[in-house]
Amino acid sequence: MSAITAASATAASATDTRSPLPVLGRDVLVPLVTGGEVTYAALDYAASAPALQRVWDDVAAYAPYYGSVHRGAGYLSQLSTDLFENSRKDVAAFLGCRPDDQVVFTRSTTDSLNLLAAVLPHGTRVFVFETEHHASLLPWQQREGVEVGFLSAPRSPREAVETLDRALSAWRAEGPAEGGSAGPALVCVTGASNVTGELWPVRELTEVAHAHGARIVLDAAQLAPHHPVDIAASDVDWVAFSGHKLYAPFGAGVLAGRADWLREARPYLAGGGASRKVAVRVREGVGGVDVEWHTTEARHEAGSPNVIGAYAIASACKALTEAGFEGLVARERELIARVREGLTEVPEVRVLSLFGEDAPRVGVISFVVEGWNSSHFAAALSAEYGIGVRDGLFCAHPLVRTLLGGEPGDQGECGAPEAAPGERSLNAIRVSFGAGT
Ligand code: PLP
Repeated sequence: MSAITAASATAASATDTRSPLPVLGRDVLVPLVTGGEVTYAALDYAASAPALQRVWDDVAAYAPYYGSVHRGAGYLSQLSTDLFENSRKDVAAFLGCRPDDQVVFTRSTTDSLNLLAAVLPHGTRVFVFETEHHASLLPWQQREGVEVGFLSAPRSPREAVETLDRALSAWRAEGPAEGGSAGPALVCVTGASNVTGELWPVRELTEVAHAHGARIVLDAAQLAPHHPVDIAASDVDWVAFSGHKLYAPFGAGVLAGRADWLREARPYLAGGGASRKVAVRVREGVGGVDVEWHTTEARHEAGSPNVIGAYAIASACKALTEAGFEGLVARERELIARVREGLTEVPEVRVLSLFGEDAPRVGVISFVVEGWNSSHFAAALSAEYGIGVRDGLFCAHPLVRTLLGGEPGDQGECGAPEAAPGERSLNAIRVSFGAGT
């Protein structure tokens, strides 16, 4: 029997009690190189979490009613438009948005942060810790007219807050040429690290940012699947996250938060749906187009939107809310303790941590095994035990370099360097899990 056939033959049943939120694929059988088959153990949720059964069911129930969004008078188009706009409302409720916040549907966290970079007012100074995921680290310097201040890796949450405070004080002291404010500034910070799982002090960093007149965007790609994100309570200005890490399928993400910079900037994508009124003018042989752009979310959502992606995210948001984060967090805490306990019993294993053993964290744990190349180790876990983990540098090269205390070598963006077995590992192994585990 092929793996796929076996998977469908053993699809998750409603009576399964292993997790309060059943996910797809958790009963998939995979062949082992040592012979036989085992149930696949997906421990790579930080890269992409499996979709919740509930999300899949919701999407399947909608599929027959598929129609164009914002572009049709027919019943199915109206239905799809309602579904899309209601998904926006559901996501706003999930994130605890303020009444004037916008919820823009994007392709991913990477896309959301690139969108925010594109709408920054000219002259904005961005502050970002070097420990960030490349999605949070790299978009800002792509923008012309924006300066980036990179902050060195802090070794505790308190040091993170102090580092930011110092950097913002120095920025304000630089001041403008002639009095007045120092200009716009943005701090970008992750809620939970995709390498160590450690939680960052978002509330304190937000207080410091605001005290200096800066705004803050929260990269919640790893936080949102594990903890409630409350924009109004935490007072962050924007939040970005991805559907495929929040138990929804690939291809959709969210940028939610303050409307002003979004409304005032040029559209991220130019095209149908973003424009309210378009007229071509030709004067003395030179042509141009006059455009009146929308000031709602549509301004940055040109083209036919990904309604299934948005609906799937909304469905996942509702499923997590209904399951209750309190219980999910408590259960995950137990799993984290079990995994860390098991790992520390192996003398060759070194668990990677920036903030120390006792730092609060989500279910993301990276480690190296002395004497083993992490890539070979991860491949063996898959081939011999059917356990799917991630190896490499996790798109956070500067952070992993700091944690490993050396140069990771000449590897690809997210890939692994080649090293002979027995050499010191230049990359790490990551196990990650969550509500569906
Ligand atoms: N930020 C963090 C903390 C991440 O872990 C990731 C993905 O691993 C991203 C951003 C980028 O997410 P995406 O690849 O969905 O754009």
